[in-house]
Amino acid sequence: MPIRLAVPNEIAAGERRIGLDPAVAKKLNELGVDVRMQKGAAASALFSDEQYEGVTLVDSAEELYKDADVIFKVQPPTLDELNMMQDGCVIASFMAPHRNQELMQRMCEKKITSLAMELVPRITRAQSMDALSSQAAIAGYKGVLMGADRAAVFFPMLTTAAGTIRPAKVLIIGAGVAGLQAIATAKRLGAVVEAYDVRAATKEQCESLGAKFVDTGVSAEGEGGYARELTEEEKQQQQEVLDKHIAMSDVVVTTAAIPGRPSPKIISAEVVARMKVGAVIIDLASEGGGNCELTKPGETVDFEGRVVIHGPLNVPSQVPIHATEMYAKNLFNLLSPFIKEGELALDWEDEVIKNTALTHDGEIKSERYKPATGGA
Ligand code: NAD
Repeated sequence: MPIRLAVPNEIAAGERRIGLDPAVAKKLNELGVDVRMQKGAAASALFSDEQYEGVTLVDSAEELYKDADVIFKVQPPTLDELNMMQDGCVIASFMAPHRNQELMQRMCEKKITSLAMELVPRITRAQSMDALSSQAAIAGYKGVLMGADRAAVFFPMLTTAAGTIRPAKVLIIGAGVAGLQAIATAKRLGAVVEAYDVRAATKEQCESLGAKFVDTGVSAEGEGGYARELTEEEKQQQQEVLDKHIAMSDVVVTTAAIPGRPSPKIISAEVVARMKVGAVIIDLASEGGGNCELTKPGETVDFEGRVVIHGPLNVPSQVPIHATEMYAKNLFNLLSPFIKEGELALDWEDEVIKNTALTHDGEIKSERYKPATGGA
C-alpha cells in the first residue's frame, strides 16, 4: 500500500507558506506516494489547486489527517491538529521544540515520529534539506528590501542633472546565512556595505561578497584555532567600535539570532539616539526578541521621528512562492531517500534522520530536548 502523504492548510496567523509546491507534488507522485492536500491550502502561497496534478483534494483538516501516514507542515501542529492525526504517523515540520513541551509530550503519547526541521544537522550532505538556511536566505534578501523601502535615502550612487547622490551606508550585523544574503542584496542595490560578526571566520565570506568587515581590533582567536573568552575590556572595545559604525549607517540589518534562545542585544537605545536622522534598523532577529533594545517584535517603532526600528516576524512568508518552493524541496530531500515504491522506511542508522527526529516510538529522541537533560 502506498503511503498517504497529507498537506494541510497552515492555520497560524500570517503564515503564507505551505509544505508542498506543485513540482514536489509531482516528484512524490513519481515515487508512488498517494498525495493529498486540503482544498485551497496553497492559495496563501499563490498556487491554485489545479496546479497540483495528481494530488487528491480533501475538504477538511479532519478528513485529511485521520488516515494520513506522513504529514508535511510548516508551523508546529497545534494540540487540536495533533488530536486529529492517527497514532504512529510521521510528521515533518518546524516544531520550535524549545517552546513546545506540551506538543512533544502529546506526540510521544500518540507515538508520532516527528522530524523537526530546525534539527537537520549542519553537515554537507544535509544542505539540501536545511530549511533554516533556505528560509534565512529569504529573510536576508527581504530584510534589505524593507530597509531600502523605509530609508530616507537612495541606496545606489546616482549622478543626475540635479547633482551627485552618495550611496547609502548599510551595515549588516551577523554574517550567517541571512546576513550573507543581506550583504549580497544590499551590494546589488548599490549601497556601500559593511558587515560584522563575532565569528572571525566570517570576515573572508563577507569580503568575498563585497562588504567591508568591521575591524574591532579584538581577536577572539585562541590557541589551536579555538575561540577564547574575551575580557570585559575587550568586549567593551568591540562594542564601542561597532557602535561607531552603527551610528554612521543609513540602514542597519541585524540577523544575530540564536535558535531557541533570546537574541543578543547588540544595539542599545543610547546608540539609536546617536544614529543619523532618517536611519533605519531592520531587526531580523525579532522572533527571539530582537538585536536592538528598542525593537518591538512584529511592530515598527518610530524613535523620536528620527530613526525607524522595524521588527518583522516570519519574513519568509512575505515571499510565499519561493519560500514554499524551497521549503517543500527541503522536505522532499529529507524524506525521499527513504521512499521506495510508495512506501516509507526511515533508516534509524542514518545520521540525518537520527539527528532530526524529535520524537519517535513514544520518546523524545533529541538529546537536546530530553527533559532529563534539562534541555527542554
Ligand atoms: P544564525 O542564524 O544562528 O546566526 C546568525 C549569525 O549571527 C551567525 O553568523 C552568528 O555568528 C552571528 N552572531 C551571533 N551573535 C552575534 C553577536 N552578538 N554579534 C554579531 N554577530 C553575532 O546562523 P546561521 O545563519 O544559521 O549560520 C551559522 C553558521 O552555520 C554559518 O557559518 C553558516 O555558513 C553555517 N551553516 C552551515 C551549514 C552546513 O554546513 N550544512 C548549513 C547552514 C549554515
